Amino acid sequence: MSELPIRDELRGIQAYGAPQLDVPVCLNVNENPFPPSEALVADAAAAVADAVRGLNRYPDREASELRAGLAAYLERESGVSLRPEQVWAANGSNEVMLQILQAFGGPGRVALSFAPTYSMYPEYARDTATTWVTAPRREDFTVDVDAALEAVATHRPSVVLVASPNNPTGTAVPLDLVRRLHDATEATRTVVVVDEAYAEFRRDGTPSALSLLAGHPRLVVTRTMSKAFAFAGARLGYAAASEEVVDALRVVRLPYHLSAVTQAVASAALRHADELQARVRQLRDERDRLAEWLRSTGLEVADSDANFLLFGRFSDRHAVWQGLLDRGVLIRETGPDGWLRVSVGTPDETAAFTAALTAVVGDGARAGATVVTGER
Ligand SMILES: *Cc1c(COP(=O)(O)O)cnc(C)c1O
Repeated sequence: MSELPIRDELRGIQAYGAPQLDVPVCLNVNENPFPPSEALVADAAAAVADAVRGLNRYPDREASELRAGLAAYLERESGVSLRPEQVWAANGSNEVMLQILQAFGGPGRVALSFAPTYSMYPEYARDTATTWVTAPRREDFTVDVDAALEAVATHRPSVVLVASPNNPTGTAVPLDLVRRLHDATEATRTVVVVDEAYAEFRRDGTPSALSLLAGHPRLVVTRTMSKAFAFAGARLGYAAASEEVVDALRVVRLPYHLSAVTQAVASAALRHADELQARVRQLRDERDRLAEWLRSTGLEVADSDANFLLFGRFSDRHAVWQGLLDRGVLIRETGPDGWLRVSVGTPDETAAFTAALTAVVGDGARAGATVVTGER
């Protein structure tokens, strides 16, 4: 076939994503291991049947009922009261992020983040022809405020992206950083995005940036139903921001981007938010127990406010990843060299993971998977 007129920056690039392997224990993409309850299944099925009866018509373009439900949920979860007009929903928070860059990034503009961070951000930047720049995090994966302000002054980004809790490290940022990033970018009118995909898993005392929305008109907080809501397959992400920001996102969204079926199942899930919260508490406890176990074996574990742990360090992390896979446990080879990321699963899955890791690291010398200790 003759060469297609693909954009130069896309030429030769392969589609990228976490491997979707058929493995007994999948702890690689931070999904919630608990499927929706039968009560939610029944409620969602009825809501879908209702939606299907009207599928000859286009869906509600503004997703009004869903956005009101999301605003009410955020108020219950974080105590921050928002008008439905301040909430925006799309097919996964990944689509929300793309829309943010479509509206506020683009040719000649810069998006800045703090590495290591979510591997999909540079792809949205590329796809929207936005220049992608990162400033490094500290050794412990926190963000140094002075270094962050310096990076903003140097690069003058139109968008700053801060994942909190961060993927793949689990690190949450203090609100002071968000406040100062917002206030230091008054002149450049920078949009400051805090990606709170894992916010529901935050430890007690870790605040949500939602509490800063009042008085910070260029702040956007994104959330998702993919993690805490155990609804990754439904593809529903959302943002909370000023009405001005939401209006800009409404300009770039595709017509009728959110199907009536998606709106119906997402609204059904919101009606079951309380039972989902109980599962979230269970997963937070499971995370803290697993972190303790990993540390007891002599491994380093990054402090996590999310439903996963970054642990290491290994002289050959790929050998450890492969050894776990050979034992039926799939985790993620991501983050800085030497580290691996494991999602928090059910107690049975945790047991399978700890048994497999014990076997692999026990074989360490042979597998080239020795644990590296000492100063980083
Ligand atoms: C999982 C994840 C998301 C969620 O993406 P969806 O499109 O909502 O499934 C967003 N941001 C980060 C950092 C994530 O890890």
